[in-house]
Amino acid sequence: MPRLENDLTTLGDAARAYLDRTHGLHIGGNVHDTAKSYELKDPTSGLVFARAADASATDVDAAVKAARSALTGPWGRMRPNERELAMLRLADLLERHETEIAEIETLCSGRLLANTRGVDVGYSAHFLRYMAGWSTKLAGQTARLSIPYIPDGEMAGFTFREPIGVVGAIVPWNVALGIAVWKIAPALAAGCTIVLKPAPQTPLSALRFAELALKAGIPEGVINIVTGSGAETGIALVRHPDINMVTFTGSTAVGRQIAVDAAGSFKRCSLELGGKSPVILFQDAPLERAIPAAAWAIFSNHGQNCCAGSRLYVHHSIYEQVIEGVAEIARSITIGSPLDKATQMGPVVTQAQQKRIHELIEAGKAEGARVVVGGEPIEGPGSYVPPTVLTDVRADMTPVREEIFGPVLVAASFATDGEALTLANASEYGLGASIWTNDLDRVHHMTRRLEAGSIWVNVHNALDVALPFGGWKNSGMGADLSETAVLAHTKVKAAVHHYL
Ligand code: NAP
Ligand code: MG
Repeated sequence: MPRLENDLTTLGDAARAYLDRTHGLHIGGNVHDTAKSYELKDPTSGLVFARAADASATDVDAAVKAARSALTGPWGRMRPNERELAMLRLADLLERHETEIAEIETLCSGRLLANTRGVDVGYSAHFLRYMAGWSTKLAGQTARLSIPYIPDGEMAGFTFREPIGVVGAIVPWNVALGIAVWKIAPALAAGCTIVLKPAPQTPLSALRFAELALKAGIPEGVINIVTGSGAETGIALVRHPDINMVTFTGSTAVGRQIAVDAAGSFKRCSLELGGKSPVILFQDAPLERAIPAAAWAIFSNHGQNCCAGSRLYVHHSIYEQVIEGVAEIARSITIGSPLDKATQMGPVVTQAQQKRIHELIEAGKAEGARVVVGGEPIEGPGSYVPPTVLTDVRADMTPVREEIFGPVLVAASFATDGEALTLANASEYGLGASIWTNDLDRVHHMTRRLEAGSIWVNVHNALDVALPFGGWKNSGMGADLSETAVLAHTKVKAAVHHYL
């Protein structure tokens, strides 16, 4: 049996030294102490390994003031190419601190070290470089004008893209630094400043990132980090009168509350919310690729991906073969400490999540779903959940309707393309969908008719920096990544020059 609890003696010196520090907020380039703090617990053992600061509304106000003065001060005065170079230096620095940051992230979240290295550090550096380039490429338009009630003289029209201002960002724990950088990088490229609230479970990587940003030459006050709960820190940020835009990734329920709170002061809102993304295997699916892909579409990151392939629909002619193949992979997955290289699946983030996941599995069983593999709790102090496959599910069952955010797959068969489409679209969510087929006609047909923001063909969860990523239906509004995200952080100004 592999070791379940993290062995903290394997942590590198840099992570160890960082964890031993007192963690305040990061405001105006300084460590800002708070009246209250809270415990951080290792998800593999439930043991406390550090404390984080709990920001009050007054602390949030100090952060917003720092962001406002950087916006009109040093950051606002920097030329676009100076901002671009600073972002490029930050990407380099992030890579240089890969082990330290990945270990911190793994300890807080329970995610595999390979994943935090590759995604929160590697992908974030790649994304920062992509976004750095946008700093110098934002442009307006020019127009020849013919305003009927100004008949004399010539006119020229211009548009300018100005930074929207101070951005308030709220992010979850499932890819903590990765998603934080999804929010920070386009804001920086557009010339904005930012106050970011990480999830309470994963506050440290963002704090460390903000320190590296100072070293990279991004002026103090441009990136501010306020750690704490959604109920106090998050609400104070969303409702703050001097925030111009709220960008949020998290659950649909919280997104709905944020949209209401932001509307009161007409803040722009970008919401990346929950998902229940289907994986559809047609009769001609390339099974040697599709079966492992279907398994890892749900089991990677322990099912804690917003676009996890959590619903599997398979043509009836290959259904048994596919379910057996996915179950076989599920049985073979090595569960253990996420710091251990041999581990393929670590714990979910908290005991509360573990409990919720098992409640949803139990609801499915009671409604008639068949457990092919997994389903039973793993005893111990760590919040582990076994890879689980529920088959013969109906669209109205609880674990089919609700986002589980754990390593739990629900599966059903279909007979016709039309039936597959109906099953896939029978969800309040619309984040991603993958189809597995080599029939070109079917590819086009399904791509056009699936109700989701991202459609993947013979691949799942393929997010590129150059393509927008956003949800349809209750999966959100707006999009992260790509030029779309940069433009969302700008406001347009139209100017008319009249030459007499
Ligand atoms: P969550 O409960 O919605 O929380 C997200 C963040 O919002 C946390 O920092 C939370 O703090 C804070 N928050 C809670 N209530 C708030 C309020 N009223 N005002 C302001 N902030 C508030 O989500 P989660 O459970 O941490 O994360 C999992 C969810 O994120 C899943 O639904 C998943 O699909 C979604 N997700 C979506 C994407 C995407 O791109 N679409 C990506 C990753 C994850 P507290 O924890 O203290 O409440
Ligand atoms: Mg939550």
